[in-house]
Amino acid sequence: MLNIRIEKTTTPKELPGNDNPLKFGTIFTDHMFVMDYETGKGWHDARIEPYQPISLEPSAMVFHYGQEMFEGLKAYKTEDGRILLFRPEKNIERANNTNVRICIPEIPEEDFLQAIKEVVKLDESWIPTKPGTSLYIRPFIIATDPFLGVRPSDTYKFLIILSPVGAYYPEGLNPVKIWIEDEYVRAVKGGIGEAKTGANYVASLRSQVKAHEEGYSQVLWLDGVERKYIEEVGAMNIFFKIGGKIVTPALNGSILPGVTRASVIQLCKEWGLTVEERKIDINEIKEAYDNGTLEEVFGSGTAAVISPVGQLRWEDKIMQVKDGGIGEYSQKIYDTITGIQLGKLEDTFNWTVQVK
Ligand SMILES: *Cc1c(COP(=O)(O)O)cnc(C)c1O
Repeated sequence: MLNIRIEKTTTPKELPGNDNPLKFGTIFTDHMFVMDYETGKGWHDARIEPYQPISLEPSAMVFHYGQEMFEGLKAYKTEDGRILLFRPEKNIERANNTNVRICIPEIPEEDFLQAIKEVVKLDESWIPTKPGTSLYIRPFIIATDPFLGVRPSDTYKFLIILSPVGAYYPEGLNPVKIWIEDEYVRAVKGGIGEAKTGANYVASLRSQVKAHEEGYSQVLWLDGVERKYIEEVGAMNIFFKIGGKIVTPALNGSILPGVTRASVIQLCKEWGLTVEERKIDINEIKEAYDNGTLEEVFGSGTAAVISPVGQLRWEDKIMQVKDGGIGEYSQKIYDTITGIQLGKLEDTFNWTVQVK
């Protein structure tokens, strides 16, 4: 058990209120969790403080060599007033896998979960209740040694900040247009593609800007070596329904292992669908589209849960999926996962963890 010192704010902010659209990632709650690390001392000084700027040396290693990791999960308030987390142990396990990959000291799993629960409980009044809304939880760790030189840092800061977020698609599920990237790559096997770290996002920015300029909201990455096998989308994993089967790229070392991805696979198997995790050649998608067997395409991730894909563009080829509309399974998976998250459907998989 962590001994968490709590310093409450003396100047609570005004709550955003039910009419606020809660644009993703723009509003932060009254408090944050902080814990420090020092070689020899381990993780120590766990505390909850008022949300505020942090002070770092300009030479802090995170600014120069990018030793940073993050996670993302959500807390939901049920109609009967309980607070639920969705599979937090999966995020915590992944966080420590990321830590190992980029030489950040691991955080004991039970301490990590306790920290999330405590700070969420303290800022409980910030969990929005309108349909589709939730409290986004962003744990992250930064390297803080004041040192210019490449090596793992000896000191770190672990923080958890909280942000009330609105429905990703306020008018219901909304199909997105996706640009299949043929110039830049995101990650390669042996690299850091399966770690949740800011460095992967910096590698993706140029391509995202290009896609936006062309009128596409997200980028679909192909593998970095042969540039023909499908990997994932921006901050989502990708699924295809082809000839009645659900197909998704296998976790090969360069793809982020999404918690939503794992949940979609489990659900589809439970429903008796064939789910294939394997290499998917972009030409296979093109052929399926041309012969009419590409039935659905959707992305999966914590922020939107399910994002139906209405259009894919690869080089000069524009593929209009489902006439740009929402697939049957995209909707059914979305309704089931969000139903479980909100405590409206029976949690037969034991996915939710009650905070209160
Ligand atoms: C976080 C993330 C995902 C989605 O993971 P979830 O656990 O489902 O939210 C997919 N791809 C990338 C690159 C990510 O960072």
